[in-house]
Amino acid sequence: MTGRFAPSPSGRMHMGNLWSCLLAWLSARSAGGGMVLRLEDLDPDRCRQEYCDQVMRDLEWLGLDWDGGPVYQSKRTEQYRQAFQSLEQQGVIYPCFCTRAERLAASAPHRSDGTAVYDGRCRHLTAAEREETMKTRRPAWRVRTPEQEIAFTDRLQGGYAENLARDCGDFILRRSDGVYAYQLAVVVDDADMGVTQVVRGSDLLSSTPRQLWLQERLGLPHPTYGHLPLLLAPDGRRLAKRDRDLELGWLQTRFTAPELVGRLALAARLIDRPQAITPRELIPLFSWERLPRGDFVWM
Ligand code: GLU
Repeated sequence: MTGRFAPSPSGRMHMGNLWSCLLAWLSARSAGGGMVLRLEDLDPDRCRQEYCDQVMRDLEWLGLDWDGGPVYQSKRTEQYRQAFQSLEQQGVIYPCFCTRAERLAASAPHRSDGTAVYDGRCRHLTAAEREETMKTRRPAWRVRTPEQEIAFTDRLQGGYAENLARDCGDFILRRSDGVYAYQLAVVVDDADMGVTQVVRGSDLLSSTPRQLWLQERLGLPHPTYGHLPLLLAPDGRRLAKRDRDLELGWLQTRFTAPELVGRLALAARLIDRPQAITPRELIPLFSWERLPRGDFVWM
């Protein structure tokens, strides 16, 4: 059994990341499993090596360890290219020339998470039209989603299903600037890194049917999934990087690592009163049954 940390190093970690990292680690380690670290630094505009270094220092400060060296997505372009090529050979990829404005105009809202469903207008271009447009515009590459219901059972959220064509629409696998999309990278990496258990925030629940379908197409195994409830700010918003007062840098000025871990453990219902505790001490207390299922306000 192998779990993973998959932070996006686009800034300092915040409470929401710490929550997912601690629980992913506890789930793996309490089952005697391995834990790997992947830095999701695909987007060159947002990610920097110094952020990667900081993420690793922060995990260590909390008392969370991992096996082997860190894996950087930015160094794995060749693996993504091969998977992309395999999908291309299966005939499920097409170039999309829509600009951002055209895309928005051509989209209906996504059922579950409010993002847009692309209407597939570039799906129907002829080979000649594609060739002609290629001369002036660099396309993004989309996958042709099937009218197929993809269902799975989440460890915390229970049954979840999406009809990919209707609920999600044709999604991007490679951006027009050449960067491979998260959805593709994550399935290739989880398989290559031997990840058998994915534990992450429920903001990614609706990505899972896409990932399961890509795994199928690429002949990769399916990990199990557990999507954690989200921590909300007192006004009901999701915690985000812009909430500077919940960044680890700020938190470190107020809490020791065991105090912070204790707060998270209390929220996870692994302990029943505030106390300072280390991740290692929490291992025997961890259980999926205890974890809260719904989103909740932090502190
Ligand atoms: N890199 C993503 C994030 O930090 C997590 C991706 C995943 O767990 O699949 O939100």
